[in-house]
Amino acid sequence: MLKVQDLKAAYGRVSAVKGVSLEVAEKEIVFLIGPNGAGKSTLLKIVSGLHRPSGGTISFAGAEIANQTPETICRRGLVLVPEGRHIFGTLTVAENLFLGTTIRNDRAQIRADIDEVLAIFPILRERYNSAAVYLSGGEQQQLAIARAMLQKPRLMMIDEPSLGLAPLVIDQVYESLRQLNAKGMTLLVIEQSTARVTDLASRVYVMRNGKIVLHETKASLGDGSSLTDAYFGDA
Ligand code: ATP
Repeated sequence: MLKVQDLKAAYGRVSAVKGVSLEVAEKEIVFLIGPNGAGKSTLLKIVSGLHRPSGGTISFAGAEIANQTPETICRRGLVLVPEGRHIFGTLTVAENLFLGTTIRNDRAQIRADIDEVLAIFPILRERYNSAAVYLSGGEQQQLAIARAMLQKPRLMMIDEPSLGLAPLVIDQVYESLRQLNAKGMTLLVIEQSTARVTDLASRVYVMRNGKIVLHETKASLGDGSSLTDAYFGDA
């Protein structure tokens, strides 16, 4: 569904992505993990049209999308949940959710989709009319994912969903990712930690210093020890 080939990007003279290739097939949940500064967010920004690549190709659902505008890419069904969630604190949960529907034309279907999203994230139903600023970090992460779902993505990319969350809350967020994937949503998830990915992943890429240093599939992943080795530089 998504195929990135030999992608390169720089900030001025600093090369951040140095020839990355990866793919995500329909209904997969793929993790891209790596330490701070590895280039993971830059890669997602390029795929979303927010940063221009200096080389390489990106095909999504059969179309070449490198250098298309963020809006065009989003309308094609590739939706990013950015790092930091970008929730509007003074707006209510309901209003934040409605923001996810603004690119849609099928008004009649929106109410049913909001109900479906609230079934996956019951806490958002409880807090539906509260200002989002009063939500905890984990609840805000769920709101960001729920809002992205309402854009009807074919592939959702999530930048560090566990960032700043307590372990129990991360479990909840991961449970919602599992449910989303079980319902057929294709996911590309970025994380800094190798923890928790082995149970869920269809495939995992480890990125370090702008390059993919390891690619494992569910079949080759085993207990995940190769991930830790690659992450810390022993591979
Ligand atoms: P993190 O997990 O901390 O977000 P990351 O793996 O997502 O890290 P990137 O944010 O993509 O890494 O950063 C890759 C490299 O590009 C780093 O060396 C970073 O300092 C640099 N970089 C990122 N954004 C910019 C920017 N706007 N201007 C200049 N350099 C940048």
